[in-house]
Amino acid sequence: MVTSYLRLIEKRYGDALDEDGEELFEFAVDGADRMREMIDGLLKYSRVETGGDPLEPVDLDAVLEEAIEDLRVRIEETGAEISAATLPRVRGDETQLRQLLENLLSNAIEYSDDEPPRVDVSVERSESNWIVSIRDEGIGIDPEDTDRIFDVFQRLHGREEHSGTGIGLALCNRIVERHGGRLWVDSEPGEGSTFSFTLPAAGERVE
Ligand code: ADP
Repeated sequence: MVTSYLRLIEKRYGDALDEDGEELFEFAVDGADRMREMIDGLLKYSRVETGGDPLEPVDLDAVLEEAIEDLRVRIEETGAEISAATLPRVRGDETQLRQLLENLLSNAIEYSDDEPPRVDVSVERSESNWIVSIRDEGIGIDPEDTDRIFDVFQRLHGREEHSGTGIGLALCNRIVERHGGRLWVDSEPGEGSTFSFTLPAAGERVE
């Protein structure tokens, strides 16, 4: 709402602003946008348990396609190449699983530096779990930071370098926990990162 009023002011009184005024105005719009993003993220985060849909059989492959579709503009802008194995059916909340995959893919693209990002989604079976991995060839993460990035507001870069709210991975972690799984990262600085999560493999019996 703040952004809409700011845009209205710009439309009606924009001509009255000098260059400094325009710059300050854009700071205000930017700040309002970020505040909205942060509130949206925090609301999603706080509602994972209470606001989710019941867990039911979900075709994770179709969910992945939707997540990729959500990121289409970003994929086109960056020239990202995404390869993916066929994902299984699982028990889950479709909206939350889509959010999970979208966040991990969008990070894989964002933290790929200047190269056209290459991202691979793979899956393997381990005892009673599926392990889904999203691998990028990006900037990687220092081993010292691989735990704290899953906490709210923990970011390793300034806004000028990479924009973001620092809520994405904390949200992913909560979603995976709600599904009875675990989320972690394997990474080396400069060597890319692989984010993996487990989901119970109960879904395969359900058609
Ligand atoms: P955001 O991306 O909004 O900052 P996240 O919670 O999604 O917040 O990620 C937290 C931090 O973890 C990021 O700021 C970034 O420093 C690091 N990070 C996340 N994904 C990757 C990745 N694929 N490669 C390198 N660093 C990553």
